[in-house]
Amino acid sequence: MTQKKYFPIIVSSPSGAGKNSVCDAVVEKCSDVEYSVSYTTRAIRRTEEEGVDYFFVSEDRFKKMIREDAFLEWAKYLGHYYGTSRKIVEDTISRNMFIILAIETKGAVQFMKNRPDALSIFIFPPSMKELERRLRNRKTDAPDVIETRLDNAKHEIADCIYYDRFIINDDIDRVSDEVIKWIYKKSEGKDIYG
Ligand code: 5GP
Repeated sequence: MTQKKYFPIIVSSPSGAGKNSVCDAVVEKCSDVEYSVSYTTRAIRRTEEEGVDYFFVSEDRFKKMIREDAFLEWAKYLGHYYGTSRKIVEDTISRNMFIILAIETKGAVQFMKNRPDALSIFIFPPSMKELERRLRNRKTDAPDVIETRLDNAKHEIADCIYYDRFIINDDIDRVSDEVIKWIYKKSEGKDIYG
């Protein structure tokens, strides 16, 4: 019997296309997949919890962590820093667990270079019109922030070429099941394109 392999799973999408919901569903359905809690310098939102949604740190602390090589990847997004802890990823894999990261594309590409064993998945919105509708319905951002997100989405979609698999997010349940299928196929050394 082949030894089951554990690796990081990168999930990216333009904001509003549902990468967080897909990751939440995967974590809920699979007892051997954990969420990677990132570090960020942005302010905590009312609905968020320290250590659960993010580790919220100062810019000085974040920059010190960059110098100490504490991140497997980091990026600046809409004026704030975001990074994935090398230690969290390595500790999780060494416990024979998968770790799933919902991150933007520039950091994701860095991560793929540092961890070529990662499975990378890019999630498309059903259309740009639908993405715009979802962003406006969320009511979390001011209109100018929505415009910036839509503009960013175009650049992020261009980065889709670096990922192992694409999928259109038309249904969270279907998409999460598909992602789970790819995780276990890769884990058993099988072809994820079949
Ligand atoms: P938000 O501020 O809305 O929570 O996240 C903004 C963007 O940063 C999202 O696209 C989110 O996926 C991304 N992000 C969150 N954590 C990380 C991380 O550790 N690294 C990178 N590169 N992006 C992240």
